Amino acid sequence: MEFTLEEMRGQLAKLETRISAACAQAGRSRESVLLVWVSKFHPAEAVENAIALGAKVFGENRVQEAESKFSERRVALDGSTVQCHVIGPVQSNKLKKAAIVADCIHSIASMEAVEKLEKVCAALPGEKVAASGKTLEILFQVNAGEEETKSGLDIARADEFLAALEGRNFPHLKFRGLMTIGKNTGVAEDSRECFAFLRNLQQKYLAKGGVFANFDQLSMGMTGDLEVAIEEGSTMIRVGTALFGERDYSKPVNDPV
Ligand SMILES: *Cc1c(COP(=O)(O)O)cnc(C)c1O
Repeated sequence: MEFTLEEMRGQLAKLETRISAACAQAGRSRESVLLVWVSKFHPAEAVENAIALGAKVFGENRVQEAESKFSERRVALDGSTVQCHVIGPVQSNKLKKAAIVADCIHSIASMEAVEKLEKVCAALPGEKVAASGKTLEILFQVNAGEEETKSGLDIARADEFLAALEGRNFPHLKFRGLMTIGKNTGVAEDSRECFAFLRNLQQKYLAKGGVFANFDQLSMGMTGDLEVAIEEGSTMIRVGTALFGERDYSKPVNDPV
């Protein structure tokens, strides 16, 4: 059962209490952390309720599901266009569709994907800018939790991967930072080390400037570990369950992996 608008309002209030407490604990402002509403497996009506509560940025991990909910422009309460962030691994043959629907992709983890996205974005009509070509924001996913089931750059190779981007030119891509999924142990504290690793790597590349001039984002923290992530410097938390409730995986989904 999906939450009603009033139930979701209650969920949001509880979540905001958690976020504010974590920000206070870390000596950070609430505005320094973007809430990404992870609407995967929830219907368009849930997205509409979220927008009524002020949501501006949504996360989806399947391209087809993202298209079904976000291909048509949705307007946030403040009149801005609602953003769709793709946060799950994208197969090579779906990169173009992802580039069209997404404002930002958090889960890029190969040089092939970077090169393909640059090509694809150069050929897209300029949606937000009059000139041809779309500028897409991307983050690189690092498998800092070091679990086999999770995708992302191997932790031992992430530095080498980023170094290979230095000095290259990707006019239609904006490298925004790094993303990781914490260790899924049920104990949030277990993810602290991998979040700190991510922050150190992100800071190292931000300091280099050039193609990393906008590398100021850390996408880390979910329902179970967002406090630890905020303490370790997260600028984007990706929250599904705490806002929308449990996902019903038994329902047919659009885009099986
Ligand atoms: C599903 C998902 C989330 C949200 O997880 P919750 O525990 O429901 O908050 C965050 N990030 C990614 C990459 C996901 O796939």
